[in-house]
Amino acid sequence: MIFGATGDLANRKLYPSLYRLYKKGKLAENFAVIGIARRSLTNEDFQSNVRKSVQSAVECSNDLEQFSSHFYYHSHDVTDSSSYLALKNLANNLDSHYKLEGNRIFYLAMAPEFFGTIAVHLKEDGLTDVAGYKRLVIEKPFGHDLESAKELNKQIRQAFSEDEIYRIDHYLGKEMVQNIEVIRFANAIFEPLWNNRYISNIQVTSSEVLGVEERGRYYEKSGALRDMVQNHMLQMVALLAMEPPIKLTTDEIRSEKVKVFRAFRPIEGEEVKTHFVRGQYAQGTVNAESLPAYREETMVDPQSNTETFVAGKLLIDNFRWAGVPFYIRTGKRMKAKSTKIVIQFKDIPMNLYYGKDQTLNPNLLVIHIQPDEGITLHLNAKKAGQQLDATPVKLNYANKGIDGINTPEAYEKLLLDCISGDATNFTHWDEVALSWSFVDKISQVWENTKEDNFPNYPAGTMGPKAADELLEQDGYFWWPVTDLDIEKC
Ligand code: NAP
Repeated sequence: MIFGATGDLANRKLYPSLYRLYKKGKLAENFAVIGIARRSLTNEDFQSNVRKSVQSAVECSNDLEQFSSHFYYHSHDVTDSSSYLALKNLANNLDSHYKLEGNRIFYLAMAPEFFGTIAVHLKEDGLTDVAGYKRLVIEKPFGHDLESAKELNKQIRQAFSEDEIYRIDHYLGKEMVQNIEVIRFANAIFEPLWNNRYISNIQVTSSEVLGVEERGRYYEKSGALRDMVQNHMLQMVALLAMEPPIKLTTDEIRSEKVKVFRAFRPIEGEEVKTHFVRGQYAQGTVNAESLPAYREETMVDPQSNTETFVAGKLLIDNFRWAGVPFYIRTGKRMKAKSTKIVIQFKDIPMNLYYGKDQTLNPNLLVIHIQPDEGITLHLNAKKAGQQLDATPVKLNYANKGIDGINTPEAYEKLLLDCISGDATNFTHWDEVALSWSFVDKISQVWENTKEDNFPNYPAGTMGPKAADELLEQDGYFWWPVTDLDIEKC
């Protein structure tokens, strides 16, 4: 059952992903999807919408009639208690028709304020009373802070146990985010170096060129810290920093990630100023197009104090990482759309090439998450010719170039994981709670102090100057994401 079946997420991501799974034979013929939203649609209207959404996302779409015949629509206001019984009857009928053995997934692709109400109704009206499995998939944001997240968790836990709850963080479905573990734990050359003896700092950037678009109302209350850092950025750091799990099971991986969250040094009070930088975009010009400031966007307060950019320095207090800064930055209306991780290794103990026409560059391992997917290793090698000068060289691996096909969409992988009952790439409550308690300390300071310099970076740039200074004070600089792109042959 997809709650919010007429919405943007369902149309852009969920239907095309289900279709791809269907075409790959990952969905057997015995499945049914009930779409739920308030507006009044017939099953035929709904099926036609599903076909359109697939056609706009998937190049070659045949068998669409057959695929969409599995979709049923139920017009229903989720706050209206009387309508759940009709939904239950429809679900029971489809259960017998398609021989579903009582297995149900409830996907809440709706605004979070409805999550609790829906979960409670599903239980009270007997929709979760099934012979098979029942699973709840919920979208971010999971709460607004630790308190609201706890409250939401309490509500949904009335109807679902922790192992039946699949909290989506779609970054965890991305091919190269999942690859972090493989790169680290399947290579003899990296794992021995993956610690504070050989790594000087790690930089995680997730930049967007778009502004807030139509999401002004939501974004005003959220800002970049809650929208990106609490979930996606901290999850990537946890995967980079965790210890090798003893087995690749959901529980073992999650338990290692949770240890990283517990080891984050809390940044609070006065330290927020020295460890975190907030930004908000001003007007700017990109490719001769003039772009509005954040404060001029629809549904945004002209005096808004909301941050559209965050840079931060995280410290992980454990044996492996003591002394290694993890720098993160994320923002809207930046120069490039790019999610990249740069692992910078320490300089070698003695440089034999000093005094020649160049100094040595540090070794870098760059993990390209999006839009490029791949890995680049930056080394130094001999410059061709007579002298023994060193020159930087890059070893590139690009997923797309090698396989010749696009890697599966994050939602496609996550939907399949959920159908198969694999919760590894979903966030456990302990991770959610610990990440909120880390982020809350920063947002409390920011909410209580107005940023006088806002707006402080022009649209189309890599953020405010203070974000550069954050690294400069430690003797580092942000590796420019565009210079690091995988070179196309
Ligand atoms: P949206 O386009 O606004 O869709 C909301 C859906 O909820 C519509 O189908 C709407 O249909 C339905 N709805 C609203 N009130 C309802 C009610 N009282 N009873 C029943 N249905 C109701 O939102 P969205 O962008 O798809 O986002 C959905 C969720 O996913 C949000 O939590 C969002 O934060 C999260 N998310 C979205 C994206 C994305 O790419 N869009 C990405 C990450 C996370 P009716 O108006 O017909 O009722």
